[in-house]
Amino acid sequence: MAYEALYTRGRPKALSQLVGQEHISNALTQAISNGRLSHAYLLVGTRGTGKTSTARLLAKAMNCDKIHEAQLAGRPLDKKEIPCNKCDSCQNFNSSPDNVEFDAASNRSVEDVKRLLSTAYLAPLHARVKTFIIDEVHMLSFEAVNSILKLIEEPPPNVVFFLATTELNKVPMTIRSRCQVLNFRLIPQETIAKYLSRLAGRLNVVLQEDAAKKIARLAEGSMRDALTYLDQCYAMSDKEITLSDVNKTLGLISDENLDDIISAIKAKDRAAVGRAITRAFSSGLAANVIAESLITRLRDIEFEMLDAPNKNFAEFDQMIDALRKATGEMYGSGIPDIILEMTLMKLAAPVQNFIIPAQVSVPSENLDAGQKIFYDTLNALSSEDNNSMMSLLKKTTVMGFTGDELTLGFKSAAVANLFKKEIPKFERAAAQVADKAIKVSIIVDKNLHPPELDSIPEPARTNLINAMNVFDASDFTKVKD
Ligand SMILES: [Zn+2]
Repeated sequence: MAYEALYTRGRPKALSQLVGQEHISNALTQAISNGRLSHAYLLVGTRGTGKTSTARLLAKAMNCDKIHEAQLAGRPLDKKEIPCNKCDSCQNFNSSPDNVEFDAASNRSVEDVKRLLSTAYLAPLHARVKTFIIDEVHMLSFEAVNSILKLIEEPPPNVVFFLATTELNKVPMTIRSRCQVLNFRLIPQETIAKYLSRLAGRLNVVLQEDAAKKIARLAEGSMRDALTYLDQCYAMSDKEITLSDVNKTLGLISDENLDDIISAIKAKDRAAVGRAITRAFSSGLAANVIAESLITRLRDIEFEMLDAPNKNFAEFDQMIDALRKATGEMYGSGIPDIILEMTLMKLAAPVQNFIIPAQVSVPSENLDAGQKIFYDTLNALSSEDNNSMMSLLKKTTVMGFTGDELTLGFKSAAVANLFKKEIPKFERAAAQVADKAIKVSIIVDKNLHPPELDSIPEPARTNLINAMNVFDASDFTKVKD
């Protein structure tokens, strides 16, 4: 027997086997039991979530002899047998001329559609109900949509339409309003992983749990993609599929390798980054695949951190931003490997020692005291020839004051670096103003918003304006007097 793809074998044979779409299989089972079926369905959802499979099952069930007999006799239906797959009608469904399936993406013109729909006005040849399954219905041309619309508005007897789409917003409202809409959800990773393990079990293959989870994560909610990935791994395996098999077969970088890169960056260990990236390249992975995998891994770590008490996303966000930028630069570049290496090395660059990425939180009365000392010091300095230092301080934010330590925030690392040389002088002036020793520390944060002059309390505000008057005050044009 020819090899049958898992994608075909894993397909549901009855509505009750639809994975991850229980809300739909329950509603349709109910509708069949009550004989309350619509003549037009719009099946909406991402690719691979079961739209076409559901349409086929429902079309088959509408013609199933066993279901028909049960309904005539008033017997309850067996949920596992919707459809029964045994009666003549079910057995012949795939070759039935009464079931017309086509893909709108490749049959867009009005002629194509008219030809395919031409039999709608003829009575079914063998079946009870004639069914039309149209995939990607949003791809149809305007005229083609209109010819379908006419059929849905005044449906010929015993004709049912199944229109599937991945993009509901591109389906005209006139069509939407005349169909019963079935919304297919993304299938949860856990559901996919469990289903894959069961399927592998039926094939006498051991699919390891982490391998199943990895495939489920890659599939991003699409069972079809998950089965295609499993199929590739299955073809290469020998009775067991491990996480490493999945990585190798699908050309993926292992989580372990990704985590090595990430922790080396966090540790600012450039040698370790170099070793980890060389290992990734040596397994034949392309730079953009590594970069995209790193982004996905970082995102996963961030999601895992959501419930953690002390979360610091800034570090991860910085990595994601840099990698996204690098991925963009790689396209069309002849040196993607070097771009990735340089990006990672930059991320692993040692932090300059004057940057203290601390979260400063001080009571506001302390801040007020700190601001007063800061502005009084500026004022004191303004009476001497300190214009260059003053110009460095014009956009400084007072971040904290403990009583003897004043923390100043700078938006620009370059300005902070220049000011660093002036700290002893500033500290001397501050000590005179405060009448005690004042130590100055610096924070660089590019997200800082320097204070508005108007928000600074008197007399500090006047002191500042006086101080500002000695140098270019163009930044303070808001101040009238
Ligand atoms: Zn049947």
